Amino acid sequence: MAHHRATRAEINLKAFKHNIENLKKILGSDVGIMSVIKADAYGHGAVPCSKAALECGVSYLGAGIIEEGIELRKNGITEPILILGGIFLNEAADLVHYDLTTILSTPTLADELSNQGNKQGKIVKVHIKVDTGMNRLGVRPEDLLNLIEKIKTLPNLNLEALSTHFSSADDEDSSITKNQIELFQKALLELKKSGIHPPITHLANSSALFRFPDSRGKIVRPGLILYGALPSPILNPIVKKLCKKDKLDDFQPVMQWKSKIIQLKLTPKGEALSYSRRYFTQKESLIATLPIGYADGLNRNLSNKMQVLIKGKLAPQVGNICMDMILIDVSRIPDVKLGEDVVIFGKQGDKQISVEELADKSGTIPYELFCNVSKRVPRIYQN
Ligand SMILES: *Cc1c(COP(=O)(O)O)cnc(C)c1O
Repeated sequence: MAHHRATRAEINLKAFKHNIENLKKILGSDVGIMSVIKADAYGHGAVPCSKAALECGVSYLGAGIIEEGIELRKNGITEPILILGGIFLNEAADLVHYDLTTILSTPTLADELSNQGNKQGKIVKVHIKVDTGMNRLGVRPEDLLNLIEKIKTLPNLNLEALSTHFSSADDEDSSITKNQIELFQKALLELKKSGIHPPITHLANSSALFRFPDSRGKIVRPGLILYGALPSPILNPIVKKLCKKDKLDDFQPVMQWKSKIIQLKLTPKGEALSYSRRYFTQKESLIATLPIGYADGLNRNLSNKMQVLIKGKLAPQVGNICMDMILIDVSRIPDVKLGEDVVIFGKQGDKQISVEELADKSGTIPYELFCNVSKRVPRIYQN
């Protein structure tokens, strides 16, 4: 086996594909999938994840920024790619050159894209985003028809889709999303009345596609669920029920974050551990040092709060988390050795630490924790 750093993220592409196959079965054959692979596939690696998703037959990839789309093109991916975050006017030339698609919200960008299409001899596909309540990107419903009239005058543009994005699909209060769905349907109807029938509609992120089946549209835009994590605990019973109904195995975590013990030391009672003396040994303790710290993405606010798995048992992290290292009290784990494998999140024996659990302890969401796993942590692909 090739040498790699002891601190690593193991990526199980088989689990990733399993999750897509699960989704396909839950959605049925009428609904397609745009795999959201922005932010380096939530830290899982955009190129390998995109290739795996395409092998499962997804019809679209969702990148966050144009650079991410270009990276996929340079790696030989020719399937449709949508830039979910939109583009600047001065990126239109590249967008057209690399056959990428952007969401569109303004007449100015429509003009520029059509110009570039004309220059490069291409018809440019665009997806209008209607802002139904996120109040971030998108055209407000009352301005939609103006944008449409503009597009109708531009010969090199092709309106492929109408889309929107939910602000609160994982909120207890489902009325917010229901209202957004309604506003979207209205906008779509308005479009059809003016003779425009976009072949694609897309609205739903992971939460919405499970909780609001009428938000599924022609395709859905799942991100987090593909990586085997849930946006919020309220999704848990809903997803379980859907899997059971279709006799599917549960969605599986794709990433496991691991390290190894680099030093073991018996430390007397009453010693202060790590920077700023935020932990004192209550008795003589066996303390393990691991080469992982906040430079790897392990948030410092987890200091003295998190646990890891060693030899299939939970062991507490003690003292302040450093840039490159953390300390673990392994006194209660028999027979620990130097080089012992340690799980930050993932499975060991019959125990598991979920990314959701660790994110919650750190006061954030699994999305951010995945993104925080930094560049210097090698991704080790399995299957
Ligand atoms: C990130 C993103 C998604 C995916 O959301 P998940 O909650 O990860 O499923 C879908 N649509 C847009 C516009 C996004 O930015």
